[in-house]
Amino acid sequence: MRLTRRVFDDLALWMVGFGLFIGVVFPPAVVLFGVPRAIALTPFFFAVCVLAGCMVGAVNIGLVRWVVLPRLRALADGMLQVEDGIREATYTGDWSKCDPERCKLPVDSDDVIGESASAFNKLIFALTRSHDVEARVGDFTAAMSAQLELAPLCQGAVAAFMQATGAQAAVILADTGGELSVLASHGVEDTAPLVTDDHVRLCLRSGQPDRVELPEDLEVRGGLVTFRPREVTYLPLVAQAVPIGVVVLARSSPFEPETRSLSTIFARTFAMALANAMTHDHLQRIAALDPLTGCYNRRFGLGRLREEFGRAARNDTPLAGILFDIDHFKSVNDTYGHLVGDRVLTAVAKAAKERLREGDILVRYGGEEFLAILPGAATGDAREISERIRRAVEEHVVQDGSQAIQCTVSLGYVATPDVRVEDETELIRIADEALYRAKGAGRNRALPGQT
Ligand code: GH3
Ligand code: MG
Ligand code: MG
Repeated sequence: MRLTRRVFDDLALWMVGFGLFIGVVFPPAVVLFGVPRAIALTPFFFAVCVLAGCMVGAVNIGLVRWVVLPRLRALADGMLQVEDGIREATYTGDWSKCDPERCKLPVDSDDVIGESASAFNKLIFALTRSHDVEARVGDFTAAMSAQLELAPLCQGAVAAFMQATGAQAAVILADTGGELSVLASHGVEDTAPLVTDDHVRLCLRSGQPDRVELPEDLEVRGGLVTFRPREVTYLPLVAQAVPIGVVVLARSSPFEPETRSLSTIFARTFAMALANAMTHDHLQRIAALDPLTGCYNRRFGLGRLREEFGRAARNDTPLAGILFDIDHFKSVNDTYGHLVGDRVLTAVAKAAKERLREGDILVRYGGEEFLAILPGAATGDAREISERIRRAVEEHVVQDGSQAIQCTVSLGYVATPDVRVEDETELIRIADEALYRAKGAGRNRALPGQT
């Protein structure tokens, strides 16, 4: 029963009251045990008993205050300190005041006080852990949303997944235009089998996580991974309710439930970032590429030429341009139709692209006219590559039913600084003039540009 608003005051009143009660009932009680009435029922004996009862009550309350109060006080102080720390950390991000090592209370009894202290310590630990997870997810989200380019985004995600989960291998696969492909990986020597792996396919189809625990003595095919995996986990990447990819993580020891939960949160965040990056990549392709041939379009290609020309001029390195045009293409269209004409155009672009080096740029300059930009190529290289393209097109056959269609190209090439040109416009003009001469000289040939 509550008497005041303070538990210890209540306790004091109850203890002293009980002492008083005992003091009052003790003298008549002892008469029942044979103490003579003349001794027990005197005012003096009553007074002594009441005083003794009150003293026992007072000593008891003192003991309770001495033993229990400091522990409850420590619990309250600890909570206040943590509450203060959380309030401060909400705005400053400094969680040091809530550090479990600093805040934890001694657990020195096996009763409810000890249990309270222990529960408090667990609460602090859970709080710090929850904050730690929140911080990690925050960092991961910030890193993922700061990157729009597909390749660095996926590479960063692989590193982050491995660091957060302790996995020794990670692979990111995504559905790119109807085909599953590996976007980034670490720790797996051959990722090709994952593209057709049943678990990956199932995870992608169902949008549900999957995991495989491997026996300790399992023999892993040499060369696949560099360690002996104990668990492989498959996390679906779902963006706007559509599964778009899978993250595969492998570890040499089983994943803990907390790690699994964390990686699921990471996968959710990463799926959104991946969807954005894939859209960005797609839009960039649409903006830069010619849809028919897959070459750069004229607008983007001329921008690239300007950049390469500027770089070559600054670094004093050579740069070549080859302009080529399909010979008598109109008659291909007229004879076989536009659709076949399109196929020939695509085949010429493919043949030319295969003859270029890495770093070279092929641009669809006009209808059936192409520009190849060759950074670092001097006149000799440009001549050689022009000739390679000419021969490749000449030898290529496009089949239309039983009809074999062959065509040729005429090319004009020029390389700076072998030929001095003012700017990229002049480079194209000179190559165009050489192409015009090649057409005039009978077509199917490559001629150098001249100033
Ligand atoms: P030359 O040897 O002098 O270059 O003769 P040509 O017939 O190739 O030249 P012309 O410029 O007269 O014809 C180019 C043709 O290319 C006309 C145009 O219909 C066709 N063409 C341009 N773009 C495309 C395309 O995207 N698809 C198809 N099928 N044809 C195209
Ligand atoms: Mg032509
Ligand atoms: Mg033309």
